[in-house]
Amino acid sequence: MQFNKLLDNVSTYEAGKPIELVVREYGIDPKEVVKLASNENPYGTSPKVVAKIEELAKNMYLYPDDSMFELKDALAKKYNLDSSNIIIGSGSDQILEFCIHAKCKSNSNVIMAKTTFAMYEIYAKHVGANILKTQSSQHNLEEFSKLYKENGADVIFLCIPNNPLGECLNKDEVYEFLKTIDQDTLVVVDGAYQEYAAFKDEKKRICPKDLINTFPNCVYLGTFSKAYALGGMRVGYGLAKENIISTFYKIRAPFNITTLSLAAAIEALKDEKFVNDCIEKNFIEMKRYEEYVTNKNFEYIPSYTNFITIKLGDKFISKVVAQKLLELGMIVRDLTGYGLNAIRVTIGTNEQNTKLFKLLDKVLEELK
Ligand SMILES: *Cc1c(COP(=O)(O)O)cnc(C)c1O
Repeated sequence: MQFNKLLDNVSTYEAGKPIELVVREYGIDPKEVVKLASNENPYGTSPKVVAKIEELAKNMYLYPDDSMFELKDALAKKYNLDSSNIIIGSGSDQILEFCIHAKCKSNSNVIMAKTTFAMYEIYAKHVGANILKTQSSQHNLEEFSKLYKENGADVIFLCIPNNPLGECLNKDEVYEFLKTIDQDTLVVVDGAYQEYAAFKDEKKRICPKDLINTFPNCVYLGTFSKAYALGGMRVGYGLAKENIISTFYKIRAPFNITTLSLAAAIEALKDEKFVNDCIEKNFIEMKRYEEYVTNKNFEYIPSYTNFITIKLGDKFISKVVAQKLLELGMIVRDLTGYGLNAIRVTIGTNEQNTKLFKLLDKVLEELK
């Protein structure tokens, strides 16, 4: 069968391996498997969210409220915006797709950092857009500017902080850059880990309201999958001026979020203390990683997120290290596919991290 030619050079997104796979393939007790591969909040779902889901489970036969009034209202209050500035997606991933479809056609230019969230490129390729990447792996706004001046672009992706590397642009430098961008270029500010960055360093904090009021060509993306501990519910959102949001609505399928997902997100927003406590613990635990990596004479990229990227130097191959860890029931992310000899580890709970250090010691000893 012939398929759309544009799909020929699209690679399939490689998701973090699920716990179920490790149980099936290596016969490890599910309770023993630790997943530090997809940047989920390791402290689990807030009990208040669980209670709400149990209460609503009996309503599953009904379609959800497609206006998503309550969740949009809660987000509008949180960000001091109007509901007309908000769209909800099945993960912020879905909003990334809206951004591409709203702006791009064949041969549109899309600019992004060399090493960044893989879905930007995948969605852009679906419509035949040209992908322009900076030479530097980490976000370098001078290189973004150069690419933009030379080629123009319909969409620019800024991942602040960046996944999978963990670095984070300062708000001020982002604003200086945005001043130079034409109003017809859509700039996507992916804030999947903004809660972490803003906690660690106030200079990194981006206020979505101020962003879209100052630069009406920007869309800010947030997600409930990371700090808000709802990866399994698939809820994300886009915040932008009304003309952008109403265009996204033309692309959105009806009922794109489940009743339970909506309720979980609404409930999670009521429990900000849980989220803040988790973020605080995240950075306490991250210090242990920094010490561990330094002691091993590896390098890490200072991270403003809930994961850390560890470069393994030239004595170990990250793919082998990740596979050996997997066989021991520890799931981490190998970054070979991103052109790096590195692993990305989600910062777990104290106990999970202790286990990671122990197992990584064992693997490194074995491979020496
Ligand atoms: C996790 C992530 C997302 C989106 O996650 P969803 O679960 O689809 O909301 C978007 N961007 C980056 C950089 C991410 O790491």
